[in-house]
Amino acid sequence: MFEHLQDEVRRHRWLARTDVPVAPWTTLRIGGVAPWVLWPRDLEEAVAVLETLTHRDIPWRVLGGGSNVLIPDTGVLPWVIVKLDRLRQVRVADGVVQAGAGVPAPKLCMWAARRGFGGLEFMSGIPGQVGGLVWMNAGAFGRSVADVLTAVWVWEPGQATATRVTPVPAEFGYRKSPFQARRSVILQADFRVEAQSPETIRAVLQEMKRYRLQTQPLQDKSAGCAFKNPPDGPGSAGQLIERAGLKGYRVGGAMISPKHANFIVNTGSATWSDVVRLIEYARSRVWEQFHVWLEPEIEIWRLTRPGGASGPVV
Ligand SMILES: Cc1cc2nc3c(=O)[nH]c(=O)nc-3n(C[C@H](O)[C@H](O)[C@H](O)COP(=O)(O)OP(=O)(O)OC[C@H]3O[C@@H](n4cnc5c(N)ncnc54)[C@H](O)[C@@H]3O)c2cc1C
Repeated sequence: MFEHLQDEVRRHRWLARTDVPVAPWTTLRIGGVAPWVLWPRDLEEAVAVLETLTHRDIPWRVLGGGSNVLIPDTGVLPWVIVKLDRLRQVRVADGVVQAGAGVPAPKLCMWAARRGFGGLEFMSGIPGQVGGLVWMNAGAFGRSVADVLTAVWVWEPGQATATRVTPVPAEFGYRKSPFQARRSVILQADFRVEAQSPETIRAVLQEMKRYRLQTQPLQDKSAGCAFKNPPDGPGSAGQLIERAGLKGYRVGGAMISPKHANFIVNTGSATWSDVVRLIEYARSRVWEQFHVWLEPEIEIWRLTRPGGASGPVV
Protein backbone atom coordinates (compact mmCIF):
# COMPACT_ATOMS: atom_id res chain seq x y z
CA MET A 1 0.00 0.00 0.00
CA PHE A 2 2.86 2.36 0.86
CA GLU A 3 5.38 1.16 -1.73
CA HIS A 4 5.12 4.28 -3.93
CA LEU A 5 5.56 6.59 -0.98
CA GLN A 6 9.26 5.97 -0.51
CA ASP A 7 9.90 7.18 -4.10
CA GLU A 8 7.73 10.28 -3.65
CA VAL A 9 9.40 11.16 -0.35
CA ARG A 10 12.87 10.89 -1.95
CA ARG A 11 11.87 12.74 -5.10
CA HIS A 12 10.30 15.69 -3.27
CA ARG A 13 12.70 15.59 -0.28
CA TRP A 14 9.75 15.57 2.07
CA LEU A 15 10.34 15.47 5.80
CA ALA A 16 9.25 11.97 6.80
CA ARG A 17 9.78 9.11 9.22
CA THR A 18 8.64 5.51 9.25
CA ASP A 19 7.31 3.37 12.12
CA VAL A 20 6.51 6.14 14.55
CA PRO A 21 4.46 5.49 17.73
CA VAL A 22 1.65 8.05 17.83
CA ALA A 23 0.50 7.61 21.47
CA PRO A 24 2.85 10.36 22.73
CA TRP A 25 1.17 12.77 20.29
CA THR A 26 -2.23 12.28 21.87
CA THR A 27 -3.44 13.65 25.19
CA LEU A 28 -4.95 10.23 26.04
CA ARG A 29 -1.55 8.61 25.32
CA ILE A 30 -3.22 5.82 23.34
CA GLY A 31 -2.43 4.79 19.77
CA GLY A 32 -0.45 2.40 17.58
CA VAL A 33 2.45 2.89 15.20
CA ALA A 34 2.20 5.05 12.09
CA PRO A 35 3.84 3.36 9.09
CA TRP A 36 4.76 6.81 7.81
CA VAL A 37 4.55 10.34 9.18
CA LEU A 38 4.94 13.35 6.89
CA TRP A 39 5.63 16.90 8.05
CA PRO A 40 5.05 19.38 5.22
CA ARG A 41 7.10 22.54 5.72
CA ASP A 42 4.71 25.10 4.19
CA LEU A 43 1.31 25.49 2.60
CA GLU A 44 2.47 24.50 -0.90
CA GLU A 45 4.23 21.39 0.35
CA ALA A 46 1.15 20.45 2.41
CA VAL A 47 -0.99 20.63 -0.73
CA ALA A 48 1.57 18.54 -2.67
CA VAL A 49 1.68 15.89 0.08
CA LEU A 50 -2.11 15.62 0.40
CA GLU A 51 -2.68 15.64 -3.35
CA THR A 52 -0.02 12.96 -3.93
CA LEU A 53 -1.31 10.68 -1.18
CA THR A 54 -4.86 11.00 -2.49
CA HIS A 55 -3.86 10.59 -6.13
CA ARG A 56 -1.82 7.47 -5.27
CA ASP A 57 -4.72 6.07 -3.26
CA ILE A 58 -2.64 5.94 -0.08
CA PRO A 59 -4.86 6.17 3.03
CA TRP A 60 -3.97 9.15 5.23
CA ARG A 61 -5.19 11.12 8.21
CA VAL A 62 -4.27 14.47 9.70
CA LEU A 63 -3.32 14.52 13.36
CA GLY A 64 -3.30 17.93 15.05
CA GLY A 65 -2.68 18.30 18.78
CA GLY A 66 -4.18 14.83 19.35
CA SER A 67 -6.46 16.24 22.05
CA ASN A 68 -9.76 14.97 20.68
CA VAL A 69 -8.92 11.59 19.15
CA LEU A 70 -8.89 7.98 20.23
CA ILE A 71 -6.52 6.07 17.94
CA PRO A 72 -6.46 2.26 17.61
CA ASP A 73 -3.51 0.78 19.45
CA THR A 74 -3.19 -2.70 17.99
CA GLY A 75 0.05 -2.51 16.02
CA VAL A 76 0.69 -0.69 12.77
CA LEU A 77 -1.98 1.77 11.68
CA PRO A 78 -3.39 1.59 8.15
CA TRP A 79 -2.86 5.32 7.53
CA VAL A 80 -0.03 7.70 6.73
CA ILE A 81 -0.18 10.41 9.38
CA VAL A 82 0.17 13.98 8.17
CA LYS A 83 1.36 16.41 10.84
CA LEU A 84 1.00 20.13 10.15
CA ASP A 85 3.13 21.17 13.15
CA ARG A 86 5.48 23.08 10.87
CA LEU A 87 2.73 25.42 9.63
CA ARG A 88 3.42 27.68 12.60
CA GLN A 89 3.52 31.22 11.23
CA VAL A 90 1.45 33.87 13.03
CA ARG A 91 0.93 37.44 11.85
CA VAL A 92 -1.52 40.24 12.48
CA ALA A 93 -2.91 42.98 10.23
CA ASP A 94 -6.06 45.11 10.25
CA GLY A 95 -7.66 43.48 13.29
CA VAL A 96 -7.09 39.96 12.00
CA VAL A 97 -4.64 37.38 13.38
CA GLN A 98 -3.55 34.85 10.79
CA ALA A 99 -2.22 31.53 12.06
CA GLY A 100 -0.94 28.33 10.47
CA ALA A 101 -2.82 25.09 11.18
CA GLY A 102 -0.04 23.79 13.43
CA VAL A 103 -0.05 26.65 15.93
CA PRO A 104 -1.13 25.43 19.39
CA ALA A 105 -4.26 27.38 20.38
CA PRO A 106 -3.01 28.35 23.88
CA LYS A 107 0.18 29.76 22.31
CA LEU A 108 -1.83 31.73 19.75
CA CYS A 109 -3.94 33.18 22.52
CA MET A 110 -0.87 34.19 24.56
CA TRP A 111 0.80 35.66 21.46
CA ALA A 112 -2.25 37.84 20.84
CA ALA A 113 -2.62 38.77 24.53
CA ARG A 114 0.98 40.02 24.78
CA ARG A 115 0.35 42.34 21.83
CA GLY A 116 -2.95 43.63 23.20
CA PHE A 117 -5.30 41.68 20.91
CA GLY A 118 -8.32 40.21 22.68
CA GLY A 119 -11.12 37.93 21.54
CA LEU A 120 -9.27 34.60 21.50
CA GLU A 121 -9.22 34.08 25.29
CA PHE A 122 -11.77 31.24 25.15
CA MET A 123 -9.15 29.15 23.28
CA SER A 124 -6.54 29.46 25.99
CA GLY A 125 -7.31 26.17 27.74
CA ILE A 126 -8.09 24.11 24.62
CA PRO A 127 -4.97 21.99 24.04
CA GLY A 128 -5.39 21.57 20.27
CA GLN A 129 -3.86 23.20 17.21
CA VAL A 130 -5.49 25.87 15.05
CA GLY A 131 -6.41 23.30 12.33
CA GLY A 132 -8.07 20.98 14.86
CA LEU A 133 -9.93 23.85 16.54
CA VAL A 134 -11.36 25.09 13.25
CA TRP A 135 -12.25 21.57 12.11
CA MET A 136 -14.08 20.87 15.41
CA ASN A 137 -15.46 24.40 15.82
CA ALA A 138 -14.06 24.10 19.32
CA GLY A 139 -15.42 26.38 21.99
CA ALA A 140 -15.60 27.27 25.65
CA PHE A 141 -17.15 29.86 27.96
CA GLY A 142 -20.02 30.51 25.52
CA ARG A 143 -17.84 31.26 22.50
CA SER A 144 -16.64 29.09 19.65
CA VAL A 145 -14.19 29.36 16.77
CA ALA A 146 -16.97 30.28 14.33
CA ASP A 147 -17.57 33.52 16.31
CA VAL A 148 -14.10 34.85 15.45
CA LEU A 149 -13.22 33.04 12.21
CA THR A 150 -13.02 35.31 9.15
CA ALA A 151 -11.21 33.13 6.56
CA VAL A 152 -9.78 29.63 6.19
CA TRP A 153 -7.24 28.23 3.73
CA VAL A 154 -8.17 24.66 2.94
CA TRP A 155 -7.17 21.83 0.68
CA GLU A 156 -9.87 19.52 -0.62
CA PRO A 157 -9.44 16.31 -2.63
CA GLY A 158 -8.81 17.09 -6.30
CA GLN A 159 -7.43 20.58 -5.70
CA ALA A 160 -3.96 21.56 -6.90
CA THR A 161 -3.77 24.62 -4.63
CA ALA A 162 -5.04 25.80 -1.27
CA THR A 163 -8.33 27.70 -1.48
CA ARG A 164 -9.39 30.64 0.65
CA VAL A 165 -12.87 30.03 2.06
CA THR A 166 -15.05 32.66 3.74
CA PRO A 167 -16.93 30.85 6.51
CA VAL A 168 -20.72 30.86 6.42
CA PRO A 169 -21.90 31.09 10.06
CA ALA A 170 -25.01 28.99 9.41
CA GLU A 171 -22.82 26.03 8.42
CA PHE A 172 -21.22 25.86 11.87
CA GLY A 173 -22.80 24.37 14.95
CA TYR A 174 -21.93 22.84 18.28
CA ARG A 175 -18.59 21.04 17.57
CA LYS A 176 -19.60 21.03 13.91
CA SER A 177 -17.91 22.71 10.95
CA PRO A 178 -18.60 22.40 7.23
CA PHE A 179 -15.06 21.02 6.79
CA GLN A 180 -15.99 17.72 8.43
CA ALA A 181 -18.40 16.70 5.66
CA ARG A 182 -16.11 17.86 2.85
CA ARG A 183 -12.95 16.10 4.09
CA SER A 184 -11.16 19.44 3.89
CA VAL A 185 -7.76 19.92 5.46
CA ILE A 186 -7.34 23.25 7.21
CA LEU A 187 -3.97 24.81 6.45
CA GLN A 188 -4.32 28.34 7.84
CA ALA A 189 -7.00 30.50 9.43
CA ASP A 190 -7.79 34.17 10.11
CA PHE A 191 -9.37 35.24 13.40
CA ARG A 192 -10.97 38.58 14.26
CA VAL A 193 -9.37 40.29 17.27
CA GLU A 194 -9.93 43.59 19.05
CA ALA A 195 -7.51 45.95 20.75
CA GLN A 196 -7.51 45.52 24.54
CA SER A 197 -4.98 46.10 27.27
CA PRO A 198 -2.77 43.05 27.92
CA GLU A 199 -3.66 43.38 31.65
CA THR A 200 -7.40 43.09 30.97
CA ILE A 201 -6.83 40.04 28.75
CA ARG A 202 -4.51 38.48 31.31
CA ALA A 203 -7.15 38.86 34.05
CA VAL A 204 -9.72 37.03 31.87
CA LEU A 205 -7.18 34.28 31.10
CA GLN A 206 -6.42 33.81 34.77
CA GLU A 207 -10.09 33.51 35.65
CA MET A 208 -10.64 30.92 32.89
CA LYS A 209 -7.59 28.95 34.04
CA ARG A 210 -8.79 29.03 37.65
CA TYR A 211 -12.22 27.71 36.60
CA ARG A 212 -10.71 24.86 34.55
CA LEU A 213 -8.29 23.84 37.28
CA GLN A 214 -11.13 23.76 39.76
CA THR A 215 -13.57 21.76 37.62
CA GLN A 216 -11.54 19.59 35.21
CA PRO A 217 -9.01 16.76 35.80
CA LEU A 218 -6.23 18.61 33.98
CA GLN A 219 -3.47 16.58 35.62
CA ASP A 220 -4.87 13.36 34.10
CA LYS A 221 -4.57 12.00 30.56
CA SER A 222 -7.87 12.64 28.74
CA ALA A 223 -9.30 13.93 25.49
CA GLY A 224 -11.47 16.58 27.13
CA CYS A 225 -15.22 16.02 27.15
CA ALA A 226 -16.07 12.49 26.07
CA PHE A 227 -19.65 13.34 25.03
CA LYS A 228 -21.41 16.33 23.51
CA ASN A 229 -24.00 17.95 25.73
CA PRO A 230 -27.48 16.85 24.63
CA PRO A 231 -29.40 19.73 22.96
CA ASP A 232 -32.43 19.74 25.24
CA GLY A 233 -31.95 16.96 27.72
CA PRO A 234 -32.52 16.99 31.46
CA GLY A 235 -28.90 18.01 32.09
CA SER A 236 -25.42 18.25 30.60
CA ALA A 237 -23.63 15.05 29.59
CA GLY A 238 -21.49 15.27 32.73
CA GLN A 239 -24.53 15.75 35.00
CA LEU A 240 -26.34 12.74 33.47
CA ILE A 241 -23.29 10.48 33.80
CA GLU A 242 -22.79 11.62 37.38
CA ARG A 243 -26.47 11.08 38.20
CA ALA A 244 -26.16 7.56 36.72
CA GLY A 245 -23.61 6.92 39.47
CA LEU A 246 -20.68 6.42 37.14
CA LYS A 247 -18.03 8.75 38.60
CA GLY A 248 -14.95 6.61 39.19
CA TYR A 249 -16.35 3.69 37.14
CA ARG A 250 -13.58 1.78 35.32
CA VAL A 251 -13.17 -0.47 32.33
CA GLY A 252 -9.60 -1.75 32.31
CA GLY A 253 -7.35 1.26 32.57
CA ALA A 254 -10.05 3.76 31.50
CA MET A 255 -12.05 5.58 34.16
CA ILE A 256 -14.85 8.14 34.39
CA SER A 257 -13.10 10.97 36.18
CA PRO A 258 -14.22 11.39 39.80
CA LYS A 259 -13.68 15.14 39.30
CA HIS A 260 -15.73 15.66 36.11
CA ALA A 261 -18.02 12.88 34.89
CA ASN A 262 -17.74 13.88 31.22
CA PHE A 263 -13.98 13.23 31.22
CA ILE A 264 -12.70 9.71 30.55
CA VAL A 265 -9.15 9.42 31.84
CA ASN A 266 -6.36 6.97 31.12
CA THR A 267 -5.20 5.80 34.53
CA GLY A 268 -1.97 4.46 33.02
CA SER A 269 -2.62 1.37 30.94
CA ALA A 270 -5.89 2.10 29.14
CA THR A 271 -6.34 0.66 25.66
CA TRP A 272 -8.43 1.88 22.72
CA SER A 273 -10.88 -0.87 23.47
CA ASP A 274 -11.13 0.02 27.21
CA VAL A 275 -12.12 3.59 26.29
CA VAL A 276 -14.62 2.46 23.62
CA ARG A 277 -16.22 -0.01 26.04
CA LEU A 278 -16.47 2.65 28.73
CA ILE A 279 -18.05 5.09 26.27
CA GLU A 280 -20.61 2.44 25.25
CA TYR A 281 -21.31 1.51 28.88
CA ALA A 282 -21.82 5.13 29.99
CA ARG A 283 -24.15 5.94 27.11
CA SER A 284 -26.23 2.80 27.66
CA ARG A 285 -26.60 3.56 31.38
CA VAL A 286 -27.61 7.16 30.62
CA TRP A 287 -30.10 5.87 28.04
CA GLU A 288 -31.64 3.43 30.52
CA GLN A 289 -32.09 6.10 33.18
CA PHE A 290 -32.84 9.27 31.23
CA HIS A 291 -33.74 8.19 27.68
CA VAL A 292 -31.01 10.44 26.33
CA TRP A 293 -28.62 8.99 23.73
CA LEU A 294 -25.26 10.69 24.24
CA GLU A 295 -23.14 11.37 21.19
CA PRO A 296 -19.35 11.08 21.64
CA GLU A 297 -17.40 14.30 21.24
CA ILE A 298 -14.12 12.36 21.10
CA GLU A 299 -13.29 11.29 17.53
CA ILE A 300 -12.97 7.52 17.59
CA TRP A 301 -10.72 6.37 14.76
CA ARG A 302 -11.59 2.83 13.73
CA LEU A 303 -9.77 0.29 11.65
CA THR A 304 -11.88 -0.81 8.71
CA ARG A 305 -11.94 -4.29 7.29
CA PRO A 306 -9.80 -4.96 4.21
CA GLY A 307 -11.83 -4.53 1.04
CA GLY A 308 -13.57 -1.47 2.38
CA ALA A 309 -16.42 -3.04 4.39
CA SER A 310 -16.72 -0.71 7.33
CA GLY A 311 -17.01 -1.62 10.96
CA PRO A 312 -14.70 -1.91 13.91
CA VAL A 313 -12.32 -4.85 13.91
CA VAL A 314 -10.59 -4.08 17.19
C1 LIG B 1 -7.93 18.87 28.92
C2 LIG B 1 -8.73 19.12 27.67
C3 LIG B 1 -9.64 20.16 27.63
C4 LIG B 1 -10.39 20.40 26.48
N1 LIG B 1 -11.28 21.44 26.48
C5 LIG B 1 -12.00 21.69 25.36
C6 LIG B 1 -12.91 22.79 25.33
O1 LIG B 1 -13.06 23.55 26.27
N2 LIG B 1 -13.62 22.99 24.19
C7 LIG B 1 -13.49 22.18 23.10
O2 LIG B 1 -14.15 22.43 22.08
N3 LIG B 1 -12.63 21.14 23.10
C8 LIG B 1 -11.88 20.88 24.19
N4 LIG B 1 -11.02 19.82 24.21
C9 LIG B 1 -10.94 18.92 23.04
C10 LIG B 1 -9.90 19.33 21.96
O3 LIG B 1 -8.84 20.08 22.52
C11 LIG B 1 -10.55 20.10 20.81
O4 LIG B 1 -11.55 19.31 20.17
C12 LIG B 1 -9.55 20.55 19.75
O5 LIG B 1 -10.23 21.32 18.79
C13 LIG B 1 -8.87 19.37 19.03
O6 LIG B 1 -7.80 19.90 18.27
P1 LIG B 1 -6.54 19.00 17.91
O7 LIG B 1 -5.60 19.83 17.10
O8 LIG B 1 -5.99 18.38 19.12
O9 LIG B 1 -7.21 17.92 16.98
P2 LIG B 1 -6.91 16.34 16.93
O10 LIG B 1 -7.36 15.72 18.21
O11 LIG B 1 -5.52 16.08 16.50
O12 LIG B 1 -7.90 15.90 15.78
C14 LIG B 1 -9.30 15.96 15.95
C15 LIG B 1 -9.95 15.79 14.57
O13 LIG B 1 -9.63 16.93 13.79
C16 LIG B 1 -8.97 16.52 12.59
N5 LIG B 1 -7.97 17.55 12.29
C17 LIG B 1 -6.97 17.99 13.08
N6 LIG B 1 -6.28 18.96 12.45
C18 LIG B 1 -6.86 19.12 11.23
C19 LIG B 1 -6.60 19.96 10.11
N7 LIG B 1 -5.61 20.82 10.09
N8 LIG B 1 -7.43 19.84 9.03
C20 LIG B 1 -8.44 18.95 9.02
N9 LIG B 1 -8.72 18.13 10.05
C21 LIG B 1 -7.94 18.21 11.13
C22 LIG B 1 -8.33 15.18 12.90
O14 LIG B 1 -8.12 14.42 11.71
C23 LIG B 1 -9.38 14.58 13.80
O15 LIG B 1 -10.41 14.01 13.05
C24 LIG B 1 -10.24 19.57 25.35
C25 LIG B 1 -9.31 18.51 25.39
C26 LIG B 1 -8.56 18.29 26.53
C27 LIG B 1 -7.55 17.17 26.54
